[in-house]
Amino acid sequence: MEYPKILKAPIGKHSVKPNLENYEKIRQEFSWDQVSKELDWFDSDHINIGHIAIDAHLKTERRDKKALIWESTKGQIEEFTFADLARLSNRFANVLSQELNIKKGDRVFFFLDRVPEIFIGILGTLKAGGIIGPLFSAFGPEAVKDRMADSRAKVLMTSSALKKKIAEILPELPDLERIVIVQRGKEMSDPEDLSYEEAMARASDSFETFRTSKEDYAIMHYTSGTTGKPKGAVHVHNAVIGHYATAKNVLDLHEEDIYWCTADPGWVTGTSYGMFGPWSNGITQVVYEGGFSAKRWYTFIERWKVTVWYTAPTAIRMLMKAGDELPGQFNLESLRYLCSVGEPLNPEAVIWGASVFGKPFHDNWWQTETGAIMIANYPIQDIKPGSMGRPFPGITPGILDDDFNELPPGIEGNLCVKPPWPSMFRTYWGKEEMYQSRFKNGWYITGDKAKKDKEGYFYFVSRADDVINTAGHLVGPFEVESILIEHPAVAEAGVIGKPDQIAMEVVKAFVSLKEGYEPSEDLQHDIQKFVMKRLSSAAAPREIEFIDSLPKTRSGKIMRRLLKAKELGLPLGDTSTLEED
Ligand code: ATP
Ligand code: MG
Repeated sequence: MEYPKILKAPIGKHSVKPNLENYEKIRQEFSWDQVSKELDWFDSDHINIGHIAIDAHLKTERRDKKALIWESTKGQIEEFTFADLARLSNRFANVLSQELNIKKGDRVFFFLDRVPEIFIGILGTLKAGGIIGPLFSAFGPEAVKDRMADSRAKVLMTSSALKKKIAEILPELPDLERIVIVQRGKEMSDPEDLSYEEAMARASDSFETFRTSKEDYAIMHYTSGTTGKPKGAVHVHNAVIGHYATAKNVLDLHEEDIYWCTADPGWVTGTSYGMFGPWSNGITQVVYEGGFSAKRWYTFIERWKVTVWYTAPTAIRMLMKAGDELPGQFNLESLRYLCSVGEPLNPEAVIWGASVFGKPFHDNWWQTETGAIMIANYPIQDIKPGSMGRPFPGITPGILDDDFNELPPGIEGNLCVKPPWPSMFRTYWGKEEMYQSRFKNGWYITGDKAKKDKEGYFYFVSRADDVINTAGHLVGPFEVESILIEHPAVAEAGVIGKPDQIAMEVVKAFVSLKEGYEPSEDLQHDIQKFVMKRLSSAAAPREIEFIDSLPKTRSGKIMRRLLKAKELGLPLGDTSTLEED
């Protein structure tokens, strides 16, 4: 499919006026200080994310507005107003400070499915001055141990079933003092643990939120582990300014919206934009407990009349794989704005959104380390499919050569960002030297390669380590992957450089096929020809291997390093974040 190079704004129907009305003007006038005045500070130095997200609304009409609507995998529904969440998180803050002796800066970790208690637990911990550390419930024992041991967490909130899964590693966590079990009607197996339900029943509704300073640590997220061992990026309470401003201007959240962020709280998107961003804006969120299923997702959007939807390329590709007819079986008219993050969003996926939902996905770029969206497509702007958009006002990214000289438009280089910004990470837990090494010559080095065009749109090229050097040509895997998935038979593709005596490296593609297609030599040739014609003969994969599915992190990112290690018969390195089928 040939796709348009530009989608002219306004795109699709706009039932509301976008919050960001004039990009150039806002960019010129923007100041973080000004934005921070919109939030409810204790005083000029003290702020608490838990307060900003929830309690600040109690003085307003939002008090009894729904903050969280939760649907379980079995279809059970639970709803919470801002006042409910304030009360419940107060209770949990009391449990932490009175029964568990949690003090400012102590780490409280969460190893739970996407149940309402994880939201209450996180808010309560922040209010009590603790540092939250959410983990994917799909993690195995080693992944949990690594993170809990590294962070020296004092309290773990989990369920009996999940505790059982990691039982073997618990004796290896000397700093872990207590486990809180969310029962949800189930038996507790170990009497030494604290029952969440029982402790909550004893706790008082009122709690005076800890007056954390804006630089006090609040959030710890381990990076996705796409390129190596995950690092514990630490964020401070001040980060909420970034969550707030970007949720408002990039996700374009409005008072009446029903917002759905599909990210798990174990991933930074699940907290920045599955909790703090939307709630600091007073928005109603819907949460689905279960994982991906095209049918269930469409049913969910239809049932709750979701208006703004924030998801990830891997999910979009899976929806594409499920077929273009499926969405037509549902009423998805409520959707007004779609966004994506986490991996490069293939142009094909942007256009697919526009054709099946009547509106394209708006790509945006950020990292665990940046804490909030840095580069984005906005409702008021043209979309150039394949571009992650333009810098968020208040953020200055640059494309630099290895000597930190800024490069002109069209030239690929290292994507860097001028520090500081409110949600910038403040350290890698226990790895201060590694943290410092990410800042040089007045820039934060993101580790991604990118380029920009004359209009200031940024294009992702690759992870710095992933660039393929084949016969003197530099090839970004994403560019090849994007063309590959335009082939009618291809569902997903991962591209690596395979060492070669003559060409230094050759392009090798791992490809999974759409329903109804079988691997064959003819198909392989056809795909190779397709890329050659669309891109270049240098970029066309010399080798294509058909596989059922690509290895991905829990946050849905294709792990090219794993494809490469397998290909070369090398050790697989850290695989604790790998998604299991
Ligand atoms: P690790 O740092 O442990 O290797 P990770 O970098 O995948 O893992 P995250 O912080 O979850 O961990 O992901 C951030 C990275 O994801 C970015 O640096 C970038 O490579 C990629 N990414 C995120 N959004 C986009 C996007 N819109 N387009 C292209 N790449 C993106
Ligand atoms: Mg990274």
